[in-house]
Amino acid sequence: MTAPVKAIGVDVDDTLGAYWTAFRAWRHRVHNVPLEQMPAPARWSLAESGWGFAHDGEYFDAHCQAVEDGLLRDLPPLPGAREALRDLRERGVQIVIVTHRLCADRLSPGQVLADTAAWLEEHDLAFDQICFLDDKSRLNLDLFFDDAPHNIAALRAAGRRAVCMDAPYNAGLPGPRARSWDECHRLALKALELDA
Ligand SMILES: [Mg+2]
Repeated sequence: MTAPVKAIGVDVDDTLGAYWTAFRAWRHRVHNVPLEQMPAPARWSLAESGWGFAHDGEYFDAHCQAVEDGLLRDLPPLPGAREALRDLRERGVQIVIVTHRLCADRLSPGQVLADTAAWLEEHDLAFDQICFLDDKSRLNLDLFFDDAPHNIAALRAAGRRAVCMDAPYNAGLPGPRARSWDECHRLALKALELDA
């Protein structure tokens, strides 16, 4: 009897790639907001993190504008992600990219899907499937990696195992927590009971 295939769900923004870093650079360039006025976000809401947005809707307008400008192809990949995903895939783990990027009718699905796939390919980030959905807990995967407090909480409430990608805005959540993709890799090997 062969062992069942193991699969992990991996978020994109601020899990595989540095979203807020890229968005910050875009806002500096396009909106002329000084970089020093956009500190590392301490709250999940950029409107509550001192970035000069009056409310979340204003942030979301800017996000949509940035996506139209190609932001999703500009994210710096997080160090070690490529190596970790490649190693896990070579060990037979299925990599499922799980993202809520298609979060508004006003975004072009064609652009979001194409830019996401092109970015993964450009940075040689191995994957088997891509899921665009809001409620990630609907997927029954063996382990998830995500940075969003509401996603981590929903996944765990549904009985899923989720590693929290360390960020100031999720510091209040219990572990497991990873500060690097080296740590993600170690946690995945342990959780999936794969030999190191
Ligand atoms: Mg994220």
